Amino acid sequence: MAQQADVFKKLIAHAKEYGFIFQSSEIYDGLSAVYDYGQLGVELKNNLKEYWWKSMVLLHENIVGLDSAIFMHPTVWKASGHVGAFNDPLIDNKDSKKRYRADVLIEEHREKIHAKIDKEVEKAEKRFGDKFDKQQFLATNERVVGYAKQIEELSARFVAALEASNLDEIKNIIVENGIVCPVSGTCNWTDVRQFNLMFSTQMGSVSEDAGTIYLRPETAQGIFVNYLNVQKSGRMKIPFGIAQIGKAFRNEIVARQFIFRMREFEQMEMQFFVKPGEEMKWYELWKERRLKWHHALGLGVEKYRFHNHEKLAHYANAAADIEFNFPFGFKEIEGIHSRTDFDLKNHQEFSGKKLQYFDNEENQSYIPYVIETSIGLDRLFLSVLATAYDEEVLDKEDGTKDERVVLRIPPALAPIKLAVLPLTKKDGLPEKASEIVNDLKFEFNTYYEEKDTIGRRYRRMDAIGTPYCVTVDHQSLQDNTVTIRYRDTMLQERVKISELKELIKGNVSIVSMLKKI
Ligand code: ATP
Repeated sequence: MAQQADVFKKLIAHAKEYGFIFQSSEIYDGLSAVYDYGQLGVELKNNLKEYWWKSMVLLHENIVGLDSAIFMHPTVWKASGHVGAFNDPLIDNKDSKKRYRADVLIEEHREKIHAKIDKEVEKAEKRFGDKFDKQQFLATNERVVGYAKQIEELSARFVAALEASNLDEIKNIIVENGIVCPVSGTCNWTDVRQFNLMFSTQMGSVSEDAGTIYLRPETAQGIFVNYLNVQKSGRMKIPFGIAQIGKAFRNEIVARQFIFRMREFEQMEMQFFVKPGEEMKWYELWKERRLKWHHALGLGVEKYRFHNHEKLAHYANAAADIEFNFPFGFKEIEGIHSRTDFDLKNHQEFSGKKLQYFDNEENQSYIPYVIETSIGLDRLFLSVLATAYDEEVLDKEDGTKDERVVLRIPPALAPIKLAVLPLTKKDGLPEKASEIVNDLKFEFNTYYEEKDTIGRRYRRMDAIGTPYCVTVDHQSLQDNTVTIRYRDTMLQERVKISELKELIKGNVSIVSMLKKI
């Protein structure tokens, strides 16, 4: 774990050094949990957006896009339940003065007990070898059974406390389970309080309460209030979906783990409108589709798992997270929620406008049910970067070792697809290299570099995840061939300049990923 934390720190430093992610307002010592995407970060981010957008809007004829405003009428957030219920329970440690989310402290404690079970299983696996029966071990080993019981009791108590919004009970759970502050190591806690996560500001010159508006904490509500506009103007028939990418803002109590939990972040959400009663079928289908989409990224299927919610949000009748194995463990990357007709019904009530859909086939009107898929773009970005980061030790021909840092970003997502490198700065090689760039730049994000030794230039391209380097040498002037070097294997081969486009194209296009879904 210590080693993983170390690698994570290096990853953050790497992201800054190479222009992926900078701390916001860094020259003023930064703004907590707000980040800027640099010249390479924005390319990777755009590629991720394209992959998501095309998978939704291009591949489904019944899904269309939307770009709604960040500011919305304040009543939207009353209707959606955010003014009353978009809270996190917070708790302070009196000794360290650090603030925590009480629910996260309990969840982390539960994870620790889980880890103890995993350790016992690991030990027993080693001891019994091929004869090891995991199920039997889990059911009969005294220590493991004890841990499982602890988890079960803790979960039941925690869910009951959350459902009853019983803040005293949440504190009792923390104290009675001996959960201590990771900084001070003490159990000296304040009471648990509710904290609303929405940022507010004033619109226009009105300073009374009437002028207070919120920065949206999710993009979904922009879709709900526009659902009939889109349905009518687009002649959409149920089932249909509306997809949107946009910024969301949450005043997170504990914002840490780099871009995992930010106060300003980006969501990619799709709301799918279905006939009431059919929502479970669609919910299952979207869970399956979304997992497949993640798998097609090529980061490794073992990195994902589902986590079904025990305590459902106020608007849902079923909910699951897709969790990703980040450098700090399995955490939510995407939520899939069956939101019932909660939002539309409330908007109808609060606005006094009918939000019913007229179903021609059924010859009746109803408020549709909604399945939501909601993924954080920044968390997705982090999943790609963390998986791609590799410190590789290389065996050199003379028997010594060398090292390189390589970002094994899936080629379709790589910020730069191809670097064109003249071997020297003279003899007409730069001109030849520029010719290649000028031809290929219409197809791919192409980079030209003539400074430094070729070895150093290769390493720099490895460090930013460029899948192909093309080297132009004296032979190129004679026979129009170049050397192409592959990032992952470092193998090189001689190819015709005229063949470059075809060679690279298949691997670096988003289409290659979309076809795997
Ligand atoms: P968490 O439990 O981690 O706070 P959540 O359940 O509140 O997340 P949702 O409201 O379901 O998250 O939001 C959908 C997605 O938006 C999440 O799966 C996540 O990828 C992303 N997201 C939510 N909050 C943040 C944040 N503060 N920073 C970055 N991404 C976020």
